[in-house]
Amino acid sequence: MSYDYLLKDASIIDEEGNISNHQNIYIQDSIIRKVTHEEELYFAKQQIDCSELYVTPGLVNLHTHSPMNIFKGMAEDVHIDDWFNKVIWPFESKMTGDDVYCGALGAIEEMIDNGVTAFADHYMYADRICDAVIKTGIKGDIAPAIFGVAKDFNDTLENCSELISKINGAHTRLHVRIGPHSPYTCPEDTLKTIIDRAKALGVGIHIHVSETHEQVEQSIEKYSKTPFEILKEAGGFDIPSIIAHGLWISDEDRKYLNDKTVLAVSPKTYMKLSMGTGHLWDRSWELPLCTGTDGAASSNTLNPLEQAKMFALIGKLIKTSTEYDLRFMWKMLMRGHEALPFNSGKVKEGYAADLVVWDLRTCNTAPVYNPLASLLYSADSRNVLYTFIDGRPLKKNGQVQIEQNSSALFSLSRDIMNRGQGVTNLSF
Ligand SMILES: [Zn+2]
Repeated sequence: MSYDYLLKDASIIDEEGNISNHQNIYIQDSIIRKVTHEEELYFAKQQIDCSELYVTPGLVNLHTHSPMNIFKGMAEDVHIDDWFNKVIWPFESKMTGDDVYCGALGAIEEMIDNGVTAFADHYMYADRICDAVIKTGIKGDIAPAIFGVAKDFNDTLENCSELISKINGAHTRLHVRIGPHSPYTCPEDTLKTIIDRAKALGVGIHIHVSETHEQVEQSIEKYSKTPFEILKEAGGFDIPSIIAHGLWISDEDRKYLNDKTVLAVSPKTYMKLSMGTGHLWDRSWELPLCTGTDGAASSNTLNPLEQAKMFALIGKLIKTSTEYDLRFMWKMLMRGHEALPFNSGKVKEGYAADLVVWDLRTCNTAPVYNPLASLLYSADSRNVLYTFIDGRPLKKNGQVQIEQNSSALFSLSRDIMNRGQGVTNLSF
């Protein structure tokens, strides 16, 4: 038997944070074929000496808007209302499919650099994000954004359904689900129509829920229900749901969560836009928490490790230093794999070879008394030596292998400023 890769003599950190040393990992095609500490070595076309290195499942970015990379740094030091209403939505209204493609490529390059093997995206022109996923080799779970309040609601839903029929089942690295933007931009009837369609197509949804305190208050005032209750009544908890944020989830709302639900949280955005600490840090262990980065327009970086670190630090600041321990945070980082259909998240035979090889010998992480502490609190992209996706090293020896996209982003940013802002009927 010959294999494509042997990661030789590695220390594996599994999805629970357990460490096993002196492991040989054999990869063939896109799959982990063998994990063994046997001395006998089988032939592999390429061997990587991992005797001083750590191997983990890849990182997952479970909530982002990858094309918003093109607005990174555009709206700083502003109130959240102005962030949406005066900057982002007016500029977004003039965005084209080509802009989306360019932004997604830049985002994917950054994510691979950070050790991300799969991401869940939520945006318009989703077909172009799918193109970027196919071109680069990363794994993507893409949700075309749908606004129930938009005039073209029906057309958008039909286009989304067509994309689902075309993509799902035809690509192993790509999956499409439906992305109702939020209960506040999808009136109840439209939200139910979207969820019924998702059920008919056998897919889940990806939606923003209870992001701010004001959003919850307005929902109660208008409908006498929280955004979570609205989602419940529309059937949103009957199907797999990636819920972005849920920052202001109430005690009552918690009872709707089930094993088909995950909460993708992005604490850097909450801090940046003064969204408060909400209720995510109350009995966090009850919640199915995963890390997302949100779009780079609010978070500036696309690094799930950084989000996990911030989640832990906020928790320790407002609760106690003994909570949000390393294993809790590591499991939160890894849980995103369970929400995606890519057979990933374990360094075990039969699982997708979506792996990160970490070098913790650099000045920011050395010495390594506790590898989980080094990863969660000290590491960054410089420690990601390899990012394997489906058995292919898209980052190799510290260098991202896909085409570099920064100069295209610079020229697009000039274009965006020349085009200026358009008119939007959206209001935050
Ligand atoms: Zn978002």
